[in-house]
Amino acid sequence: MTVQLKWPILGVIIPCVIIATLAYGSHYFVLRHHLSVKEQWMYEFYATMIWVSYAFAIFTNPGKPPAKYKPLPQDWTRFCKKCDNYKPPRTHHCRTCNQCVLEMDHHCPWTLNCVGHENLPHFMRFLFWVFWGTGYLFIQLCKRIMQYYEESNMPSYLFDKWELTAVIFLTPVDFFVFASIFVLFIRCLINIGRGMTQIEIWEWERIETQWFSERLWLMIRANYEKLHNKKFPKLTSWRRGDDYEMVDRSEGSAIPENFTIDDLVFPYDLGIWKNLTNALGYPYAWLIPFAGPNTNGYTPEVSIEFEEEDQLNLPWPPDGVRQQEITVRRENDDELRNIKNYQELRKRLDPRVNDKRSSFVNDLGERLVDFGVDESDEE
Ligand SMILES: [Zn+2]
Ligand SMILES: [Zn+2]
Repeated sequence: MTVQLKWPILGVIIPCVIIATLAYGSHYFVLRHHLSVKEQWMYEFYATMIWVSYAFAIFTNPGKPPAKYKPLPQDWTRFCKKCDNYKPPRTHHCRTCNQCVLEMDHHCPWTLNCVGHENLPHFMRFLFWVFWGTGYLFIQLCKRIMQYYEESNMPSYLFDKWELTAVIFLTPVDFFVFASIFVLFIRCLINIGRGMTQIEIWEWERIETQWFSERLWLMIRANYEKLHNKKFPKLTSWRRGDDYEMVDRSEGSAIPENFTIDDLVFPYDLGIWKNLTNALGYPYAWLIPFAGPNTNGYTPEVSIEFEEEDQLNLPWPPDGVRQQEITVRRENDDELRNIKNYQELRKRLDPRVNDKRSSFVNDLGERLVDFGVDESDEE
C-alpha cells in the first residue's frame, strides 16, 4: 500500500511515539504491578530490540552497486544517468534515496529508507520484534481485562483508575499494531520465500495480466532475436494444467499457442531454503542485530530450472525494462467470440492489456513509481 506523508519526518516520529507509548506506558501503568522483575527485564529487552532493529533499518544503506559495475553479457544493459553507473539485475534507482538500490524491495516511508539487499534482514527483525513485543503485551493486557471481568462485583475504589484507563487505551492500539505488523511480516516472509522482491511480484502480475497481448509478445520476440541473433522458437508447454484449453490463434499472431504463464520461469527463485538464507543469512543469525544477507546483491544466482527449462532464454523481465511505443491491432468481435476459455477472454478484455510497463497499475492500484522507483534517467 502506498503511503505519502506531507512531512516525511513524521514517518519516523509516528512509529517512535507509538512504540514508546506502548512499551513504556504499559510498563509504568500496568505491567510493573503484575510481572516479576525477571519478566519485566525480558519485556524491556523486547522493547530494546525493537529500537535497535528499527535504527538499523533506518540507518543501514540498502545497498549500492559497486563503482564501475559492468553488466554481464546475459543481462539487460541498463545505465543509470543519475548514478553514472550500470545497474546490476534486480536493481532500481530510488527517487527518494537518490541512489541505485540492490534488490530493491520498496521505499519505506516508515524508515525514510529503501528496503533493499543490505537492510532487508534489519527490516525483517524490526517487524519480528514488533510482532513479538506487541503480541506479548496483548496477552498481558487480555489477562488484566479477564481479571477486571472476574472482579467486576468489587467496589470501584479498589481499582487503580490509572491502570484501568491505560488498559482501555492501550489494548486497541496494541492490537492494531500487532495485527498490521503481523500481516506485513507474513507477506514479506512469503515474498522472500518465493525469491521475489515486491517490485518483482508487481512485475510478474503485469506479465500475467498482459499475457495475451500482442504488444508483450512482439517485444519478447524482438528481444529474443536481438539478444540471441536467431529466429524465435516454437514455444511448448511444460506444465499445462488440464483446465487450460487452448484455441487456434489467427494466422500470424505473435502470441504463442501452447505456452502459458506456468511455463514462464522466474530466474531468481532458488527454492524456499536458499531464498531465505540468501536474503536473511543462516537461521542461527536471524535474530542477531547486525547480521546481514549471504550474497553480494549484484551477481544474483539464477536457478537450475531457469537455465535448463526457460525457453525464452531472456533476462528478467523478458519483455525488457525500457519499452517503446508499439501500436497493436485489437481483436475484432468474431475473434473474441472464438475464445472459449473464460480466463483468457477476461485477460484479453482487461483494459490494462496493452499498457506500457511504466503506466501499468496492478490489482491493488500500485504503479512502479509507488514503490519509489525512478527509471526515467536510464539508457
Ligand atoms: Zn541510480
Ligand atoms: Zn528509497
